[in-house]
Amino acid sequence: MQYVSTAIHESLSNASGIRKMFEAGLEMKKKYGADNVYDFSLGNPDVPPPAAVAAALRGIAERADRPFSLGYMPNAGYPELREKLGAYLTEEQGVAIPGSRVLVTVGAASALNVFFRAVLEPGDEVITPCPYFVEYGSYCGNYGGVLKTVPSQDFTFELDVPAMAAALNAKTRAIILNSPHNPTGAIYGRSSLEALAAAVTAAEARYGRPIYVIADEPYRFLNFDQAEIPCFFTIFSHSVIVGSFSKSLSLAGERVGYLAVDPKIAGGEELMNALILCNRILGYVNAPAIGQQILMACLHEQVDHEIYRRRRQAMAEALDGAGIAYTMPRGAFYFFPQSPVPDERVFVDALLEERILAVPGRSFGTPGYVRLAFCVDEKVIRAAAPGFARAAAKLR
Ligand code: PLP
Repeated sequence: MQYVSTAIHESLSNASGIRKMFEAGLEMKKKYGADNVYDFSLGNPDVPPPAAVAAALRGIAERADRPFSLGYMPNAGYPELREKLGAYLTEEQGVAIPGSRVLVTVGAASALNVFFRAVLEPGDEVITPCPYFVEYGSYCGNYGGVLKTVPSQDFTFELDVPAMAAALNAKTRAIILNSPHNPTGAIYGRSSLEALAAAVTAAEARYGRPIYVIADEPYRFLNFDQAEIPCFFTIFSHSVIVGSFSKSLSLAGERVGYLAVDPKIAGGEELMNALILCNRILGYVNAPAIGQQILMACLHEQVDHEIYRRRRQAMAEALDGAGIAYTMPRGAFYFFPQSPVPDERVFVDALLEERILAVPGRSFGTPGYVRLAFCVDEKVIRAAAPGFARAAAKLR
């Protein structure tokens, strides 16, 4: 007897590589002690939230005995926070974004779900470059959409614009671009985005409906070389920006993020109303009250960026020492190095023997590489260096 739907039953049996590694890690930590396992499998930031977050929480606790201190609010979020987020995004993106075009969401994950619920017809396609954050497939599939992945350029993971353009067709409803990128650390430059925009505009005219381009930007704050991260509103005719405070404030468990709609979109008001409605009917209702109140006080705070820069350096040195080839991540907190052997699962197993946890690239749609998340202490990265060297040497 099958107690769950066929689709979910299948998803359960194809448990993600990240999840499997997470479980292997728990087992190993029990056996060898947490300090003797080098866990680069999860993107769960270990850097503590800035001190202002604790101060904000104390203020929330002091006000908690007042009526509605933690009650329902408008489905789009506290009006005061939407205004503040509008001003914050106006500064960050360099384009005027009013609070009325900002929806406060349950992290970036729900922003994407709400968006797809609002715009997808069954069978609509959403294009994303590959490798990619695998949850995108489920987020589209939840509403009858189909994720179509287009390989990025080998090794550098720059966009392959002609291939993206060739994937556009009458069913294309959206493109999702994550920059800085999980799992590669790539940042997409203005010229490739503009070339893609020309193809998208032509496809919109050809097929007679908007093709939304989603900027998924939870890692915008981790831009190591001050590269330009262009505002999508200045490039595409129909774009939305999704972001979150999971990484920038180390608030991943508190679940707060946002979705901003380009003010120049003609049907923007209807789209905004649709998003607010979907936030409600998907059962999110509103983003967490505590998270939103933290944001009101901490919007301009962020975790110490330098910690991640030092870790990136430490990981680059560990990989260099092991002779493992990689493209230096320009943002976010992941390396996506090439496996020394074509089947990267063999490399992942060799790393496991060294008590190093990495995720196979095929979990992100791109075999032949592995993902290493460097949101772990620099000491752990340095201690893992000899293990990387031994594992790589064994396979050569
Ligand atoms: N998009 C990407 C590319 C991510 O890596 C993540 C989380 O790791 C998310 C979205 C979801 O983030 P949130 O915690 O804000 O829901």
